[in-house]
Amino acid sequence: MIETTITPALLAAVRNGERILCLSHVKPDGDAVGSLLGMGWLLRSLGKAPVLALQDTVPDEGRGLPGVEEILTDASPDFERIVRQQAFDLIVCLDASSPDRMGTVYHPPVHESATLVVIDHHVTNTGFGALNWVDPSSVSTTQMVARLADALEVPLTGPLAECLLTGLVTDTLCFSTSNVTPRTLELAMRLMEGGANLALITQRTVNRRPYRLIKLWSLILPTVNLADGVIWASATPEMLAQTGMPTSEVGLSSYLVTADEADMSAVFIEQVNGDGSTRVECSFRAKPGFNVAEVAFALGGGGHPAAAGCTVEGDLATIPPRVVAALQAARRRQLAARHGTA
Ligand code: AMP
Ligand code: MN
Ligand code: MN
Repeated sequence: MIETTITPALLAAVRNGERILCLSHVKPDGDAVGSLLGMGWLLRSLGKAPVLALQDTVPDEGRGLPGVEEILTDASPDFERIVRQQAFDLIVCLDASSPDRMGTVYHPPVHESATLVVIDHHVTNTGFGALNWVDPSSVSTTQMVARLADALEVPLTGPLAECLLTGLVTDTLCFSTSNVTPRTLELAMRLMEGGANLALITQRTVNRRPYRLIKLWSLILPTVNLADGVIWASATPEMLAQTGMPTSEVGLSSYLVTADEADMSAVFIEQVNGDGSTRVECSFRAKPGFNVAEVAFALGGGGHPAAAGCTVEGDLATIPPRVVAALQAARRRQLAARHGTA
């Protein structure tokens, strides 16, 4: 069952947890790292010693956050022993909308006996935990962790405040998305009063990128196309290899959707599977009033109305035309519904 508010059962699970594992999604973003670390600081305030884990390494925007060096990843020598072979009584999964998003951290043979608590804000969440707190009205999972801290009377100060403000800033592109409300800004104000430095966090996340990413964009942008209100571009494995950028940090879809003529954007990244076949990772964005989550969900992915994604088996010759057609059809439906002609 999915709950949209904090339940007594969830509070009890957190209060009673002794051996606790906290995790977030593969290819983590600022909200994944911020909510994971924030949950860690919250639990430490309650006198607990949680293990924090991610499948993939922390992205640049998460580096420098307090406690980040304690996160165990697939590449850590102790990952198998401390994360995958250890039994826990409570597992807290943050910012992940479906079980596959937990990647290699969640190891059912060993972890199945733990109470799995899901805390997430994706409208596409499948409710895969024993307890599921899913609030799509929250702009970030860190906003939900802040609410949990309030419920448990943990003050929003110091490292906790810094981690929580990071997720708020990254998932709202610095308070500029259409889901930002006065409540969001009120929380940001409290986190700043608690010591979090907004200018520093912004500079470490949304306002910076490595030069090699700009080089990669210069290779992808020649492929850009626009038709029927959808703008899209594609990246080959060679482009990624040439610039050494991980796929999780391509990030171009937010830029493409700024085109005046576009209501939706898509970036397609081809990746080679272990067996030599290929898959295409798709990243979607929508202007306010449009919804790309439904297309992502229909293709086996997930996300939010304004930012969503999926991974489809196939290559750049076949997948983009199919997916762009699906986005164009969704846009037409959404326009028709808006004008009452659906
Ligand atoms: P991105 O375009 O990678 O920044 O992702 C935008 C949003 O879509 C994030 O909230 C992701 O959690 C979600 N998302 C991206 N890819 C997937 C996927 N393969 N499955 C589920 N959700 C995804
Ligand atoms: Mn995320
Ligand atoms: Mn998020």
